[in-house]
Parts: sequence; structure tokens; C-alpha cells
Amino acid sequence: MKNWFGSQGNYWSLGAAIFALWLWALPVGAEEPMPMPTPIPTVEAPQPAPEPQAEPQPVSAVLSVEAVSSGFIFTFDRPPQLATGWDNPNLFRLAFVATRLAPDLAAPVLDDGAPARLQLQQSDERTVVALVQVAPQMRIGDPQPLADPRHILLPVYPKAQPDPAANQQTGTVRIVLDAGHGGYDPGAQRGGVDEKDLTLSLIQRLDTHLRRLNYQTTLTRSDDTFIPLAGRVSITNDSQAQLFVSIHINCSDGSSAPYGIETYYTTPQSARLAYTLHRHLIARTGKPDRRVHVRSLYVTHRNSVPAVLLEVGFISNPAERAQLRDPAYQERLVEAITSGLQEYLGQP
Ligand SMILES: [Zn+2]
Repeated sequence: MKNWFGSQGNYWSLGAAIFALWLWALPVGAEEPMPMPTPIPTVEAPQPAPEPQAEPQPVSAVLSVEAVSSGFIFTFDRPPQLATGWDNPNLFRLAFVATRLAPDLAAPVLDDGAPARLQLQQSDERTVVALVQVAPQMRIGDPQPLADPRHILLPVYPKAQPDPAANQQTGTVRIVLDAGHGGYDPGAQRGGVDEKDLTLSLIQRLDTHLRRLNYQTTLTRSDDTFIPLAGRVSITNDSQAQLFVSIHINCSDGSSAPYGIETYYTTPQSARLAYTLHRHLIARTGKPDRRVHVRSLYVTHRNSVPAVLLEVGFISNPAERAQLRDPAYQERLVEAITSGLQEYLGQP
């Protein structure tokens, strides 16, 4: 069931310079629709004469905007410049400077959990403005680049949740985040995609989410380098971390048909972590539950703290491989892992 509609057209009298796009989504738990925001009167300002010698600034293009359960993800062809401000307590303005809307701006994907409504417009030749109206029970966080800075996440949280940044308890937990493979070890390879690149992207996104919640993190690798398995385990000990989470991508040699999510652990102390993260991953993605397995893998066996290895999808399945490369789906996966870690650690 989707409680939303979308339409597009010119809403203000700035002629062809304006392209306005309205997205509408009911937040989870909302009992009545929010009123339409009052359009902001806009006055055409006289344009200063161009500097004849000025170098043209690089211009970013908004390629797409997607609604995800944690907010909105804007995708650009190059990292944009941001400027933000509140027009009123319920209307947030996010401006992208030196930016234009791509003529073929991709249609947004609204899922059932979309938390707010968004209007996107070209306010002048070089500025794109996103006006975000949130329901009274929601609030907006600081816009932040994802691991790939061409993607900007505008977080939208329920107000009922305590301010994650103000939660001091989480600051004492350190989690080692392990992106499988790297460097000369590409991991599984299918369709021109290397496992090592998918795992790094996912780990960097997970790092962003966890740091925002004030967890301490240590990455076994933050770029395309080879780290031996023993080195990954000693990083846990050296950093005095309490948890170890490894992300890999599965591969089926015989057939391209299998897809879905598997979770591995070795030591009994890791069982609750494994089952909790696995349950969140299956619930959030709806993927086939390929179950939790006990296996003596090096990084889960040799770690002295609860350690799990997540096989979050199959690179050998073309449809799942395409999803695993999709920034919005990567966000969905790391949101699931993040909420699983919060439950495991007893955080709200
Ligand atoms: Zn692997």
C-alpha cells in the first residue's frame, strides 16, 4: 500500500526557469495528511552583468532524488555545494549552489516508509532548492555526503527517538567494520563487478550511519588495499573493540539462480549478534532467508569478541548484483545492519 502521489509542473510564475516537482508521502504512523505548504513568494532579482574574465564554476547536476526510510538521497554527477536553513519550523530549505536539475531527472522511488514531503525546484539558473516539509512528529538532521560524495543524505528522524548525537552511552562502544577482500584480492567477480568494491562501499556507508549514532568505529580497510585475515583480527584486539562485523558478497559457481542473505558466526558468544543482524536484514530487504550458519571462518573464529560475517547478496545473480550496486539498496542494507546493532546493544 502506498499513501502517496506525485505530480510535476510549474507552480510559481518564474516561467521556464522553474521546474517544480512535488513528492508526497505519509510518514509512518501519521493519522492525517499534512497541509500543503504555502508557496514562498519569489521575486526576480536583476542579474549582475557577468564578469568577462571569470572562469565558469563547475556546475553539478541533480540526477535523481530517492525517498528512503531514513530520509532522502540526492544523487549528483559531481559533489555539490550545500547551503541550508529553515524557512519556518516545519519547512526546511536545502539549497544546492552551482547546480541544475538534470533534464531527464530520474523519477523518484518512494517506498512505504518515506518520512516527509519534498519539493525540488530550479530557483535560478545556478541554484536548485529542495523544500522539505516534515510532519510534527518528525525532524530533519544535517545533510551529509555518503561514502560516495555525489550522494547526499538528508536524514529524517522520528522526534520520539532521542537525539542520536546526544546519546553518550553509544560513544563507549567500538565496532570493527571489515570490508571483505581488497587490493589484489578482488573476491568474487561477475559481470564486471568486484566483490571488494561492493563490500567497501557498504562498509563506508555503515560507518557513516554508526558514527552518526555516536558509535566508535574502526575500519580494517578504508580503501582498495589488501589486509591479511590475521591483520583484520589483530585490528580488533589493537582497537579494543567490542564487536566485529564483516561484510561479504556471496557467489554461486554452478548457477546464477541463487540469491538472498546468509549470516555466519563461529563462537557461541556471537550467536545473538548473528541472529539479530540477520533478522533485521531479512525484514528490511524481504530477501530469501538463507539462514544463519555456524562455520569456522578465520575472522569469526579467531576474534575474541562477538564476530559475524554477513553475506548480504549474490554477485552471481544478475538482478541481485544490480541491486547491490544501487546506492539506495546499499543504504537499505546498512540501515538494517545499523538497526540490528542498536537492538543488540540495547539502544533505542
Ligand atoms: Zn568474500
